[in-house]
Amino acid sequence: MDQANVLIVGGGVIGCAVAEALSRKWTDVFLVEQNPKLGMATSSRNSGVIHSGLYYPKNSWKAKLCLAGNRMTKEFCARHNVAHRTTGKLVVAQDAQEAGELEALKKRGEDNGVEGLRLIDAAEIRVKEPHVSGYAALEVPSTGICVAEELVHAYARVAEGQGANLVNHAKVTALDPKNGAIEVRLRIGDEEVSEEESIAARCLVNAAGLYADEVAGLLGPRPWKIYPVRGEYCEIRGPKAQWVRGLVYPMPHHDQLTLGVHFTTTMWGTTLLGPTAAYVDGKDNYERGRLEIAEFAKDAKTLLPEIEEADLQLAYTGLRPKLKAPGEAGVADFVIEADPEVSRAIHLIGIESPGLTAAGAIAAHVAELVSRIL
Ligand SMILES: Cc1cc2nc3c(=O)[nH]c(=O)nc-3n(C[C@H](O)[C@H](O)[C@H](O)COP(=O)(O)OP(=O)(O)OC[C@H]3O[C@@H](n4cnc5c(N)ncnc54)[C@H](O)[C@@H]3O)c2cc1C
Repeated sequence: MDQANVLIVGGGVIGCAVAEALSRKWTDVFLVEQNPKLGMATSSRNSGVIHSGLYYPKNSWKAKLCLAGNRMTKEFCARHNVAHRTTGKLVVAQDAQEAGELEALKKRGEDNGVEGLRLIDAAEIRVKEPHVSGYAALEVPSTGICVAEELVHAYARVAEGQGANLVNHAKVTALDPKNGAIEVRLRIGDEEVSEEESIAARCLVNAAGLYADEVAGLLGPRPWKIYPVRGEYCEIRGPKAQWVRGLVYPMPHHDQLTLGVHFTTTMWGTTLLGPTAAYVDGKDNYERGRLEIAEFAKDAKTLLPEIEEADLQLAYTGLRPKLKAPGEAGVADFVIEADPEVSRAIHLIGIESPGLTAAGAIAAHVAELVSRIL
């Protein structure tokens, strides 16, 4: 049986960033990914925004790791040629009442350490975003965008260069703690041609995204359950795609499921509208029962009154790994902790947005936890 110092389950942005951080320090770091390629799940089905850390409760993991991750992600992208840009963003209020809420949002961002926040009026909105309609806005200069798939592959490339072993088409099917290690059973290959293999890992990092609750459950009954919440996108086509220069958001939704359907420019020069948010019935339900374009157009018109249904086309979707059940109040924080019974297993659960931004900072924290085990 192969021996690993660390085995990471999941080759999304989190698993790959963790592999990069751990392989700087330890040998025999393995990462296993069930899909034929890395980053095929949530890590390539998102908005690609490098968030600032504005929204999250003070001292939460989301706030701390997003703020640190914003800087770390930009530095990593610059060093490893990942396409990215600091665009800044506007959070736009539509009336005096919403403008009051912007003040509170600014205060929250400042409490979290976000720099350069500034309230601007309707005239300045027009200067910055001539087609956007609003009463007032909060300008957030540190927000940026990147190509998420490139980021995943850059973390993976650096990890491999440092000696990590990244194995695709390898699904973790069982975990058995014994003799100072965890025996990890794997199915290698696809449904038709596959073989079983085992690796004895001194430490396990569960970065299985939507399936992190199920991977944790391989150690026995555990308290976490992930509910998939689908985010759907439209793309603006034709010349109107250039109507939005940076990132433009409405006030965050009171349902606390999303930041509100917003406009995001991409590194390809297109403009995305979305993501929406709705609980769906399965972790593979990317397409069944999708929203009509007309529903996006209705939301979009508040910020961009001249947009028409004909300017939009349906684009991709992504699934958020939510820890709150439908109707349950509040926002869950990231879970980053050792298993309650098997302390050499570290779980990363509910890593929804801002997970892409926070990946490098999450990985640095995981490296600290691993150093207490190895
Ligand atoms: C609609 C949407 C928009 C978002 N926008 C942003 C944004 O703009 N900015 C931002 O910072 N964040 C954003 N996020 C969040 C961000 O995309 C996620 O936090 C991040 O991608 C999570 O990465 P991950 O590696 O944990 O998960 P994943 O990318 O899902 O990776 C987990 C991997 O584990 C593998 N796996 C699962 N089970 C097993 C098993 N048993 N054996 C082997 N492998 C297994 C899966 O195949 C998968 O590849 C968004 C998310 C969504 C859904």
